[in-house]
Amino acid sequence: MVGTCTALHLQQRGFDVTLVDRGSPGQETSLGNAGLIQREAVEPYPFPREPGFLLDVALGRGAQVHWHARGVWQMGKALLGYLHHSHPMRHAVATAAYSRLIAYANSEHDLFIAAAGAQDLVAREGFRFVFRTPEAFDKAAQRAEDLATRFGVRSQAENSAQLAQAEPALHRPLAGAVHWLDTWSVNAPGALVQRYADLFVARGGRLLKGDAASLQAQGAGWSVQTTQGPVHAQQAVLALGPWSDGFIRTLGYRFPLFLKRGYHQHYTPPAPVRQPMLDAERGYVLAPMQRGLRLTTGAEFAPIDAPATPVQLAKAEALARELIDLGQPLPESPWLGARPCVADMLPVMGPAPRHPGLWFNFGHAHQGFTMGPVAGRLLAEMVYGEPTCVDPTPYSPGRFG
Ligand SMILES: Cc1cc2nc3c(=O)[nH]c(=O)nc-3n(C[C@H](O)[C@H](O)[C@H](O)COP(=O)(O)OP(=O)(O)OC[C@H]3O[C@@H](n4cnc5c(N)ncnc54)[C@H](O)[C@@H]3O)c2cc1C
Repeated sequence: MVGTCTALHLQQRGFDVTLVDRGSPGQETSLGNAGLIQREAVEPYPFPREPGFLLDVALGRGAQVHWHARGVWQMGKALLGYLHHSHPMRHAVATAAYSRLIAYANSEHDLFIAAAGAQDLVAREGFRFVFRTPEAFDKAAQRAEDLATRFGVRSQAENSAQLAQAEPALHRPLAGAVHWLDTWSVNAPGALVQRYADLFVARGGRLLKGDAASLQAQGAGWSVQTTQGPVHAQQAVLALGPWSDGFIRTLGYRFPLFLKRGYHQHYTPPAPVRQPMLDAERGYVLAPMQRGLRLTTGAEFAPIDAPATPVQLAKAEALARELIDLGQPLPESPWLGARPCVADMLPVMGPAPRHPGLWFNFGHAHQGFTMGPVAGRLLAEMVYGEPTCVDPTPYSPGRFG
């Protein structure tokens, strides 16, 4: 999503753009997510600090977090940075910068959705956080009011009866829901990226297969090998999502990056779920998709190439069955992807500090699908040298020295 949107925005500014991917656009992380364009996600996801929660995580209880010892060891320094930046005072600073990007999520997607003719993939009916206990519901309803005041995020609190009426697939009463009204949902996230890539090609862009590992400085510019031969350019943008860290290390950069892996599986519920929902006290999402009802899991701290361990999926499935009849899982292996995260919870967008003509656009963590178009716009504005839609300073790659 991020690379394709960056290509589109550069193209709109008159650059001659080649989009290079080792596969096809929209076939990796941007395919397997929950498909939400999250106008409500104005606060980045902090490291949970409640002692009970952390004990559950350490002991492998609950469905929200799972970890591999190798992952925690490899990413330990970045995770400590994440804990540090999650302190309420520093989290408030991150929120100020994060919310400025999220504010553009819908309007920037809307332009591409319209131009790409992708309305059929997008529902604009919101997203529910559902709550099992009245205490959690009350707290969330208060937080929603606070976000409305501070960031203009619209929502509606629904009591138990209103929720049951809105979502008849729920087969037991819940305490209530916060219905985020401006969040959009995409029923085939990979297909949306493909439509954006088709738009790029229809407007004259070149889409080639090639490996970023072959990227090299050449003269005053950059070159990369593709199946159609070498491509030379004055400027190159790296938008490799969760693979970015592996590549920038070869250039000598050590940024505090880490991954939160996540899984999905599709089901065939007899009663359709109308709108996506987060089981907020248990930490998984149910999202209606073209393929079926998609269940997505929370965070797994593990290396990108470690074998799949879908224990959270099994736990989340059992929890989801407490609320709705999921029906049978589709006969497919669970999908596995990784959220590309940064210790200070802000994406990395801007010029590579020690490589003229090279630009970074990655680290959009839990909201890369949401932020793709605005991330592309901001990066293209910087490359072009025009006034930017938001101040790019908080996302600068230079902040890591
Ligand atoms: C379970 C789960 C649920 C999520 N739900 C949501 C959600 O509802 N809403 C939301 O906004 N975000 C969500 N996210 C986060 C979101 O999916 C990511 O932030 C986003 O997809 C990242 O996009 P990207 O373009 O940076 O990375 P990717 O989509 O992974 O794209 C990276 C691209 O780089 C290419 N590439 C990698 N290495 C090379 C190489 N060496 N050479 C050439 N090409 C290469 C890949 O082929 C790929 O096309 C979720 C993530 C997960 C895991």
